[in-house]
Amino acid sequence: MVSWTRAPFGISDLEENAAERYRLSAADPLVKAGRVRCCVRGCDKLLAERKRSGNGADAFCPAHGVSVSHRRPTYVYRDHARNFIVGQELLSIIRKVERKRLGNENSEDALTWNAFLGLSRLGALSSLFPAFTGEAVSTEPELYLWGNRVDMDGSCFWPRLIDVRRRLEKGLTIPTEPDVILRVPGRAIVLVEAKFGSANSTLAKKQDSRGPVHQFLERYCCRQGLPDPLNREWIRAQQAGAVLGQLCRNVIFAHWLAEDNEKAFVVSLVREKEEQQVVQQFRPHLSGSTVGFRRVTWEQVANLVPQQSDAKSLREYLANKTLNLRKAFAYGP
Ligand SMILES: [Zn+2]
Repeated sequence: MVSWTRAPFGISDLEENAAERYRLSAADPLVKAGRVRCCVRGCDKLLAERKRSGNGADAFCPAHGVSVSHRRPTYVYRDHARNFIVGQELLSIIRKVERKRLGNENSEDALTWNAFLGLSRLGALSSLFPAFTGEAVSTEPELYLWGNRVDMDGSCFWPRLIDVRRRLEKGLTIPTEPDVILRVPGRAIVLVEAKFGSANSTLAKKQDSRGPVHQFLERYCCRQGLPDPLNREWIRAQQAGAVLGQLCRNVIFAHWLAEDNEKAFVVSLVREKEEQQVVQQFRPHLSGSTVGFRRVTWEQVANLVPQQSDAKSLREYLANKTLNLRKAFAYGP
């Protein structure tokens, strides 16, 4: 039996039409005189506005442990563990560079963790393979979250990822941290770039320390003696804003991480209504099909959660999941 913990607040737990009612102009607003009402249904606590500079105790609902931001309405847990429905025992021991947003309603990391670790504990990761790679597998794949191999025995950082980072990312303060890797040794490796409400980033992103296009291409080179998965000539001719840098890095990492004839794939995992053109946009970045590329939706993943009774918590979590206080997925009731 999988051991699930209490799900974070979802659409059925939130005040009706919460997203609309945090507008000051709403007929029945949840913001009044600089105070913000807790977003949980029926809660009458008035909270201090969230600040970027940090939040005091008066910004959190004493009953529900959340603080609410009303400009682009969303909630944040004071205790990020409340955002996780499975594998709580691993949260403090996994290695992860960016941990600040784990308690956010909009955290793609919490969603990714719950969905993939949940499927792994259910023994159902192999059911994703036809959608992710076009091929079925009979063995359950290994799961890596941000480079941490996670299984029933615990978690351990993948040394091969450290080797590849050393080879490609010398001097970078923020190394590449693939959201999810699924691997069937000797057969296939899939790197998943998970997005939840944000777009795949380009090289124009200001905080990207990886430099302009030519520097980026120089850094992320291909393995000697192997066909290059990137169409560098095409990429070199583009403006930084047209180069999907994050997906390119995933392709290069998949290419370097694959061993023993493993076929490499990259998946852009997005909501049904987002990034609908990503395949057409990304295809010219690639040279041939050395690394396969697909767009898969969270809704497809949700529909692959098994119907068995101990998967009910995961199905309900995905059906109830919100983004900016609105139902996130076209899935479930
Ligand atoms: Zn409350």
